[in-house]
Amino acid sequence: MLEGLANSLQRALAKLKAKGKLTEEDVQEAMREVRLALLAADVNVKVVKDFVERVRARAIGQEVQQSLTPGQQVVKIVYEELTELMGGSQTRLRMAPHPPTVVMMVGLQGSGKTTTTAKLALSFRRHQHRPLMVAADVYRPAAIRQLEVLGRQIDVPVFSLGEGEDPVRIAEAGVAEARRMGADVVLIDTAGRTHVDEALMQELERMQAQVHPDEVLLVVDAMMGQDAVHVAEAFHTRLGVTGVVLTKLDSDTRGGAALTIRAVTGCPIKFVGMGEKIEPLEAFHPDRLASRILGMGDVLSLIERAQQAVDEQTAKEMEQKLRQARFTLDDFRQWLQQAQKLGPLDQLLSMIPGVNKLKGIENLSWDDKRFKRMEAIILSMTPEERANPDVMNASRRRRVANGSGVTVREVNQLLNQFEQMQQMMKRFSGLGRRFGRRGAAL
Ligand code: GDP
Ligand code: MG
Repeated sequence: MLEGLANSLQRALAKLKAKGKLTEEDVQEAMREVRLALLAADVNVKVVKDFVERVRARAIGQEVQQSLTPGQQVVKIVYEELTELMGGSQTRLRMAPHPPTVVMMVGLQGSGKTTTTAKLALSFRRHQHRPLMVAADVYRPAAIRQLEVLGRQIDVPVFSLGEGEDPVRIAEAGVAEARRMGADVVLIDTAGRTHVDEALMQELERMQAQVHPDEVLLVVDAMMGQDAVHVAEAFHTRLGVTGVVLTKLDSDTRGGAALTIRAVTGCPIKFVGMGEKIEPLEAFHPDRLASRILGMGDVLSLIERAQQAVDEQTAKEMEQKLRQARFTLDDFRQWLQQAQKLGPLDQLLSMIPGVNKLKGIENLSWDDKRFKRMEAIILSMTPEERANPDVMNASRRRRVANGSGVTVREVNQLLNQFEQMQQMMKRFSGLGRRFGRRGAAL
């Protein structure tokens, strides 16, 4: 997803990260590259201009932060501005205080309305709602059948009146049917045209006036790039779109739509479509996409990577131990071994937001020799000491240092690092529980 943009932005910023001190020219040069990267990704010219200006101003007059190098600080600014550009934080669906919640799905033909309607219905069903889908596209041949087939597939009822009917009447009758059967969410799948046209807009406006939707979700194809932004503007002007679903982000899109729609129209992107298969719709998280684009802080992918290497069972046991606060030095040793398998550890650690702020960890060089010494220290401890490092008083520390051929200082360091790691792992397992469930869409 958005690989081209990610690569060029990361390349532009990598040079800054490597420098200890930044001159104004360094920042200018990097901003030139950032600008080109965004333009190549088909981001709106004015949006690019404003964006670069904001980053430049903040980067040059930057607050000094002790935990980050100036280069890292610029990366952080870009991350924050990218997140802000895409809407800041996740925007959720507005639910009616008195059910049913009515959602109108609108957009051009082929944008993915029907597919997205089914995905959204499935998300609701998974969250213990009772959705009803309404087939209000009477123009496209077999559009009603398409929705009915999807309904059967995901076990969600579909309301329709047949092809000769007025879509506005179908929508109204659909909402009435939802009340009758006790459905608490009504998803109205509407017709689209190949381009924005007056007759369609009038029909949608009439429908909106009749059913008073809580949400008007505009489905747009991310592959359309800047055209998607124009479509969004057109729909928003007429209907007051409450949220955008950006589909086909799984395809080879350059990213322009994702980065521009919110800034230009003011409409938040609420969901993204990531495939043709009917799976729960994915919520849109600006911060996660920004961190994915910049290749840092993506806790989700970090956890995924970690889980590939750590065998499932070990991971589970560790999580259990962490929850019960039984993470011992033996586990730490095991963790170090697993961590070695994952590749460059500093890179891995840098992906966890805030980790470089943990004292002691930043100046750890995770080379083989270092690891062997740490292992030796742990192995020189008694099982009791490993299980409960609190008992490590001065004389025990001296004994372990002698036993493993290191200085007492190194033993102290290791124990400090263990404590840091313990804290981090605790946070880590908390994050896993909060973010780790995929498809938690709503
Ligand atoms: P509608 O005309 O707006 O109702 O669009 P449809 O839901 O019929 O979808 C049009 C085409 O786009 C179909 O072939 C879908 O399978 C495909 N499609 C919809 N959403 C996505 C998506 O998120 N990713 C991909 N790759 N294809 C999608
Ligand atoms: Mg359709």
